[in-house]
Amino acid sequence: MSSVLVRRQGLLAALARRNLSQAKFARQLNCSPGYLSDLLQGRYQPSAELRDRMLAAINDAESFPNLPPVPWDDLFITTDTATSAGKEASMPATIRIFDTTLRDGEQCPGASMNTEEKLEVARQLARLGVDVIEAGFPISSERDFLAVRDIATEVQGPIIAGLCRANEMDIRRAADAVAPAKRKRIHTFLATSDIHMEYKLRKTREEVLAMAVKAVTLARSLCDDVEFSAEDATRSDIDFLCRVVEAVIDAGATTVNIPDTVGYAIPDEFGALIATIRSRVPNIDKAVISVHCHNDLGLAVANSLAAVRNGAGQVECTINGLGERAGNAALEEIVMALRTRGDSFNMTTNVNTKEIVRSSRLVSDMSGIQVQPNKAIVGANAFAHESGIHQHGMLANKRTYEIMSPEDVGAGGTKLVLGIHSGKHAVLRKLFEMGYELSDEQLEKVVARIKVVAEKKKEITERDLESIVMDETNLVTERFHLDYMHVVAGTKMLPTATVRLICGEEEITEAGIGVGSVDSVYKTIAAVAKLPHSLVDYVVHSVTGGTDALGEVSVRIQDSDGHIFSGRGASTDIIDASAKAYVQALNRLAAHLPSTLGAEQIESV
Ligand SMILES: [Zn+2]
Repeated sequence: MSSVLVRRQGLLAALARRNLSQAKFARQLNCSPGYLSDLLQGRYQPSAELRDRMLAAINDAESFPNLPPVPWDDLFITTDTATSAGKEASMPATIRIFDTTLRDGEQCPGASMNTEEKLEVARQLARLGVDVIEAGFPISSERDFLAVRDIATEVQGPIIAGLCRANEMDIRRAADAVAPAKRKRIHTFLATSDIHMEYKLRKTREEVLAMAVKAVTLARSLCDDVEFSAEDATRSDIDFLCRVVEAVIDAGATTVNIPDTVGYAIPDEFGALIATIRSRVPNIDKAVISVHCHNDLGLAVANSLAAVRNGAGQVECTINGLGERAGNAALEEIVMALRTRGDSFNMTTNVNTKEIVRSSRLVSDMSGIQVQPNKAIVGANAFAHESGIHQHGMLANKRTYEIMSPEDVGAGGTKLVLGIHSGKHAVLRKLFEMGYELSDEQLEKVVARIKVVAEKKKEITERDLESIVMDETNLVTERFHLDYMHVVAGTKMLPTATVRLICGEEEITEAGIGVGSVDSVYKTIAAVAKLPHSLVDYVVHSVTGGTDALGEVSVRIQDSDGHIFSGRGASTDIIDASAKAYVQALNRLAAHLPSTLGAEQIESV
């Protein structure tokens, strides 16, 4: 803990207790909000006169008759830094990154992944260096339970966490699911806001407090690492929230999470909330404060950063900001903000930033949720400098317009790596360098595919290779296999497709027409598959530049119950890629099993 942080926190807590915003306080002091903020971050020492004005405003007996006066030392320096101020002040604090892509991210409509796909994402998260992987919500379905257990068995490095509500059945199920992991965590949650307690739980405050303590006590008897989340914390009564936090720490919680479940918080308020909890909960030093912010107002990352400035030690986030509704705080943005602005935060993470872009692509491919081109850090345009003025400056010195380098996040994937003459060994070595572990069968498929692509494209980049591997290591069980396709199209003719699908033992050939080439293929495939659904989304983009580039197609389809399934395909021919994507989405639909709990019961933090 740096002395800067602790200084800020005492004053922020005092402001929170007095319902004083920083802006209002600055007005009372007759200083600019910016100056106050710099002061709070320890950039300046306040003058003796400003110090007296601050004390007078905080301890104004007329405005705050019920609050005892606060001495200066409580506002700006606490005892924990008095002993360790000197050396530790310059040591960056390490913020723990808790990734919930596989749990909260997966609750995003259409993002559901099968166990194989989840395992692949979990292995990549381990390479990325996250501290905790929340692998799922084991009680929600048999599939989720098995996915968490498989990840706990196979993925080394990070702590593997399973989510559960605050009841015995949920907690035991989560404990069983994470049991095989070397390092495991049970994450239990319970709502603490009046609106949730009254309408959802139908319980009084005292009942909720008792339930939380009982849940944590049980979880702690099964696992040494227990996290408790106070669902809807940002709309909870602060006194009650502090009581719950204190009680669950006493019961053995090692991490207490303060989620902004509904994405309602704004940064200065949320930072002050964390500061208040730190200053008011007497046993807070026995647990790590975590935050979990939703992005309904586009503030998830800003709120998370405000929280770490005020003493939060763990941030819950997802790759690409995937998550329910508007999503969660984006892992890549949190990590790169802390790194790029280390001068301001003096904090670091254990994340290997060079794995960020690959993680982002893997998650968008596996989940079928594509990243918008202007997305910070991982969007296709995040490092593109189009304007002439920028290009001139960039050529003279990259630092003119670039605050991070693409290499820092692993975005330099346009390097040529293989050609038509590259043999199996060259492919194998390159894949190994890139961190892929393929089975012999998968490797054969990838090598064969590279030969086909190289005949058309000549040069294969790292990015092409990623796309090919993704295509050939298809992790979706194939109920339908596209065996043959022929399309006839032109400017003055009706596009006609002939398609042969292998469905188990059966081979079905069908022909059909459509308004365009892709439409004719899709209508024909749909006629063979006979699964009721509608197409909700169809997106094409090129992997690298040029008309011979590999094209990627993502499609999303919806069944009659509103479940969404995605598919992805890559090819130098866009119709071929479209057909592959569509068949993959249909295979996902065919493999879908209803979860054991309804959507209504799966609500969580
Ligand atoms: Zn959430």
